[in-house]
This record gives sequence, C-alpha cells and structure tokens, in this order.
Amino acid sequence: MRALSARDVVQVWEAGRERHPVDRALLVLAAALPRSSRDELAALSVGERDALLLTVREQTLGPRLACFVKCPRCAVPAEFAAEVDEVRLARPGEPVAREHALLADGWEVRYRLVDSRDLAAVAGHTDPAFARRLLLTRCVLEARREGEPVAAQRVPEPVLAALAGELVLRDPQSEIEFSLSCHACGTRWSAVLDVAAFLWAELSVLARRLLREVHALAAVYGWRESEILAMSAPRRAAYLEMVGT
Ligand SMILES: [Zn+2]
Repeated sequence: MRALSARDVVQVWEAGRERHPVDRALLVLAAALPRSSRDELAALSVGERDALLLTVREQTLGPRLACFVKCPRCAVPAEFAAEVDEVRLARPGEPVAREHALLADGWEVRYRLVDSRDLAAVAGHTDPAFARRLLLTRCVLEARREGEPVAAQRVPEPVLAALAGELVLRDPQSEIEFSLSCHACGTRWSAVLDVAAFLWAELSVLARRLLREVHALAAVYGWRESEILAMSAPRRAAYLEMVGT
C-alpha cells in the first residue's frame, strides 16, 4: 500500500470521472496497490475494500475525516469529525473469512460476503427490491431445504432477510454507522458512512486543485504538467506563493 501521489490523484480522477462508484473505488485501490490484480481487488469483501480505502485516505490525506451532513428534519448542516482509526474496524489487508453458513427456518445456506462484483452487478437496476434480492442470491453458494439442494433463486424471503443481517454481521466494516443529533432541533438519527463515495469526493476536489496549480505554474514558468505534479506539495506551494496565487 502506498500513498497516492499528485500524479496518481489526477490520473485516477480522470479515469473515474464517468465511471460508476464501484469502479472508482477499484481505480483508487489499483493505484495504491499496484501489485494486486483487478480481479483480486474486485473479490475483496466490501468491508475489506473499505478498510483499505480508509488506509489510502490516511496515507494520502491524513487520518482526520471531516464529514458534512444535513439534519433530515430541519436540513441544518452539521459537521463532525472522525479519526480513521475509529471507523476502521480491522487492520487493513487482514483477510476476513469470506464464506460462512446460515441455518434458518429449516434451511441451510452456504454463502459468501458481498464484493465489488456483486455491487457492480446490481448497480444498473432501478428497482431496489429486485436489486436487493439479486445481490443476496448472488451471495448464496449452496442452499438446502431439509437436506435437499435448492436453487438460490428459490430461497424464500425470510431466509434472505436473515442472510442480509448475517452479511453485515460478518463484514461489519461494510456498514459504518454514526449516531448523530441536530444542534438546532435536537433530532437524533444515524447515518451510514459511504467510505468509497466520501473518498472519491475528496480526491475529486484535490485533483481539481492540483490542475489549477499546474495551470498557474505552467502559465508563468512554462513547466510541463508532469514536472509540476512530480514536485513535493511544499515546493509547489512555495512557487505558487511566488507567483501570487
Ligand atoms: Zn435539525
């Protein structure tokens, strides 16, 4: 795992701009883990993926996360901070057991945790109930009713509901919740931290800032983009100060 360089940030942003959030997360990981194949990264459970993304965030932009939310009742904006260590439950790169078994209502279901391929497979579906069912049945490796094998598509809803609960329980990093309260109206609610979306938003802001810096320095000194991005951040900042931006 390495921190993203200025060049990485611009390249990842450019490659991911028009892509789905699932692909964006994989692009970020591929840049930080150049020795891992795309298939290996896509097969990480969502929790494993998010633990690694938090580490990319920590190494590239530091450990303190500044989160912005709006109260669901009065829409007053609120800001809260969290440290990467508070929201990263496992050591990054520590493998979690991806296959488990569930016993419910006379059914025995062998299943695996949700990964990026599953998220990508359901991404295009606009019916949330259909997408949920598709996601859950994709995770079923084998289903038996009173010992007899049954196709995953025929597993009934109550068993799938139990499976949905198990999937979060076995991969807790995949769903980090914050308990929040509104300082204006007192409403309490909980919000899920979407690590991939959060980091993508930050990297987009950083990429645009880097391009503005390239523009300012190239316009004055005539340096190439690659030269400017290869500079350390303090050196780039010192030149920017000299050209008065
Ligand atoms: Zn409020």
